[in-house]
Amino acid sequence: CGIVGYVGDNKSVQVLMGGLRRLEYRGYDSAGIAVIDSEGTLNTSKRAGKLAVLAAELAANPINNGNTGIGHTRWATHGAPTDSNAHPHLGDNGKLALIHNGIIENFSVLKDELLAEGFTFESETDTEVAAILLGREYQRVGDLGAAFRAVVSRLDGAFTLLAVHQDQPGIVVGARRNSPLVIGLGDGENFLGSDVAAFVEYTRRAVAIGQDQIVTITPDLVTVTDFDGNAVEVEEFDIAWDASA
Ligand code: GLU
Repeated sequence: CGIVGYVGDNKSVQVLMGGLRRLEYRGYDSAGIAVIDSEGTLNTSKRAGKLAVLAAELAANPINNGNTGIGHTRWATHGAPTDSNAHPHLGDNGKLALIHNGIIENFSVLKDELLAEGFTFESETDTEVAAILLGREYQRVGDLGAAFRAVVSRLDGAFTLLAVHQDQPGIVVGARRNSPLVIGLGDGENFLGSDVAAFVEYTRRAVAIGQDQIVTITPDLVTVTDFDGNAVEVEEFDIAWDASA
């Protein structure tokens, strides 16, 4: 339901939790984050319930912090609101984490294909299918952006997807179809959000991602393409935000 992505000099856990707090107004039933730490290891924490439940879990069992991460608040559509159905979902043997807003309508066909290949699932969500598909593709092409281009055109329905892979620290890749995604432009850091509330605390410079587009952010670079990989011109806008709201 709510999505935030971060790459830069700051500690991701704090940026992600702050972004998720600002997205709470949308409503949700679970929350989770994934962070790539300085050793290049992906760490995930997720819980059913309010953000306060996740915050308490992070206080009790802290994860190694780092400069790249993604965060999600879930409004369950496929699978009950449980810890294991909360996002992020993992692919590529736990090296890739993915979050999703929306519904992947053809997930059961894709899931059957993956089950037949011997993949196993930890959740009842439509989302995990995208995580496993992306992980399988990453193993073939070794690049998250290329893996996205191969996978997103196979997904029907509505989705905003963000993913990170521990072998590519310093990069967050996102894609959208029938669901919103916005870039926040910072100074040596960049953000992604399902809406500008996710990052307005840090920057007022934003770029809206168009329908059927893929975005890659690094601390210094933002690249947007269509699903075929053709470069797309982006237009920056200033976020008008009433700080008292
Ligand atoms: N369909 C996904 C799920 O049920 C994502 C729901 C959402 O947009 O939060 O996990």
